[in-house]
Amino acid sequence: MNKETSQAYIALGSNLENPIFQVQQAFGELKQLSGIDLVRQSSLYKSAPVGRLDQPDFINAVALIETRLTPHDLLNALLSIEQQHGRLRETLNAPRTLDLDILMYDDLQCHDEKLTLPHPRMSQRAFVLKPLFEIAPDCHIPGLGHIAPLLAACHEQQLEQIST
Ligand code: AMP
Repeated sequence: MNKETSQAYIALGSNLENPIFQVQQAFGELKQLSGIDLVRQSSLYKSAPVGRLDQPDFINAVALIETRLTPHDLLNALLSIEQQHGRLRETLNAPRTLDLDILMYDDLQCHDEKLTLPHPRMSQRAFVLKPLFEIAPDCHIPGLGHIAPLLAACHEQQLEQIST
């Protein structure tokens, strides 16, 4: 891709219907999207649910992509992949076949009815910060600073790196 591309980090998560398969499949679908190059992908991690505890563990990962899509077009593309995975939105923090979030898009900070960047809850979640740190240890999160102290502050959150 050329200089007009942007870099974005995407969080992937699943805790239903073979979550490892769902996340691996989603990496493949990201690769195939027009206007997106998958540059780097983290290992998969297993995390305990937060918010609502009576649900299965999650599988999480992070991808670095280069894209010519605008942030909102990228969001729509991610939502359509979620749909292909049968994603239902029933209640907040409900189990899900696939969740795709834009963590960051270049250094953009924005907040509108559809999109908030950087993703509003990323800085408190080890299941986002750990895989992000794996693929971008020098990452600077717009408005929040370097990833290392944010990750250190989440040290009590249990996370298991899994080999597949
Ligand atoms: P959920 O899948 O429950 O995390 O919520 C998805 C909704 O959150 C989408 O329909 C978006 O409109 C909204 N949203 C706001 N900011 C973001 C973001 N950075 N990445 C993904 N979805 C976002």
